Amino acid sequence: MNQYGHNFTKTIQRIDAAHHMHPFTDHKSLNAEGSRVIVSADGCWLTDSDGNRILDGMAGLWCMQVGYGRQSITDAVAKQLAELPYYNTFFKTTHVPAARLAEKLAEVTPAHMNHAFFVNSGSEANDTVFRMVRYYWDLMGKPDKKIIIGRHNAYHGSTVAGTSLGGMGAMHKQGDLPVPGVHHIMQPYWFGEGGDLSPAEFGIKAAQALDEAIEQLGEDRIAAFIAEPIQGAGGVIIPPETYWPEIKKVLARRDILLVVDEVICGFGRLGTWFGSDYYDLKPDLMPIAKGLSSGYLPIGGVMVSDRVADVVIGKGGEFYHGFTYSGHPAACAAALENIRILQDEGIVERVRDEAAPYLQERWLGLADHPLVGEARMVGLVGALELVPEKGNRSRKFPSVGEVGTLTRDMSFRNGLVMRAVRDSLILSPPLVISKSEIDELVARARKTLDDAHAELSKRGLLA
Ligand SMILES: *Cc1c(COP(=O)(O)O)cnc(C)c1O
Repeated sequence: MNQYGHNFTKTIQRIDAAHHMHPFTDHKSLNAEGSRVIVSADGCWLTDSDGNRILDGMAGLWCMQVGYGRQSITDAVAKQLAELPYYNTFFKTTHVPAARLAEKLAEVTPAHMNHAFFVNSGSEANDTVFRMVRYYWDLMGKPDKKIIIGRHNAYHGSTVAGTSLGGMGAMHKQGDLPVPGVHHIMQPYWFGEGGDLSPAEFGIKAAQALDEAIEQLGEDRIAAFIAEPIQGAGGVIIPPETYWPEIKKVLARRDILLVVDEVICGFGRLGTWFGSDYYDLKPDLMPIAKGLSSGYLPIGGVMVSDRVADVVIGKGGEFYHGFTYSGHPAACAAALENIRILQDEGIVERVRDEAAPYLQERWLGLADHPLVGEARMVGLVGALELVPEKGNRSRKFPSVGEVGTLTRDMSFRNGLVMRAVRDSLILSPPLVISKSEIDELVARARKTLDDAHAELSKRGLLA
């Protein structure tokens, strides 16, 4: 029995199973168990329909920077809805929140980025990128420069362009993707693919794959390289320290655009405003979403560098692209208040100076657990590689993903949301997480590892 009545959870599960198709979900297995029903949240904590309080170690879906229950965001949205709930930004019109948000984004993003194109999600941001880079090269009089180079196991969203730019083989299989004109190179995933090389050597090798692809396909046919600073959905792949410096060397020699997908790393996740600040990158285009509004309302954007804006605005005519809800007033109001909170409360600096060092020390300490092959973390985003035999990176569990899923479900039961990618656990908590919540988080993570270890040894899956 809870505040919602005896059969509340079962009722919601039943109608959900009957009518709701979920994203990225195997419905047979979901409906066998029943959906978990989340009813409310506050700070870093979720409450489900049975009254359980769960620590949200994934910040929703990598987006809840400022924590749940921010009254000032609710108020800003309510005020905007009352004043002007909707108007478009086509046909030579604008409105106050869109104009002010574009100005604010020009302030917080790298200095050479001064224009924002608004969309409603990270996927739409990457669709916009796809079209804008090609349009740019057409305007530059180089219409043969059309190929975009991405990376295997990258994630750039789930629309046709997002899926194509991303490097998820299972997604490509559904829908016969990628579309033509996208080429994928290796990812800088040392733990999984580094072989006998040191991380530093492997980072150079993975970066040189970009140069090799450009050489092989022809620089005069390449439009852009797209990458996440740290791959998120691919399993929090933190590149070796040599990777980005080497990529920068390659790009300095080649006339192609750099697209840095900041949908996860943006807005403080790495203890800097953007991943581009952390790795000292100079993107030509920068897709943003998620932490832009802390998920309070859907909004995304593409930050456009002066180099690209000068051509697209200066040389181009009409760019036939945009969405009914581009720069939606209420979503812009939510984003503006979210950024005000990040700035006024010094949240990004607090991540850098306090929360990230504190969590990192404890998280990396989990590497002593017999089930953990590697613990890694930058800022407040990290992963634990679960392995059957510690010290042997090449040995994997027999059916990839099974142990990850089992352990993730145990974590939920222990009151902590972590996500599983293959057989790793990943973590990306709200940026406002406190030290005592970090202690709680790490204790629950360790208990989960112990539980999983006991279960796996019972099943005979450990070396
Ligand atoms: C989540 C994500 C996207 C897609 O964003 P949606 O809002 O889900 O469409 C794109 N790129 C990266 C790096 C992401 O993590």
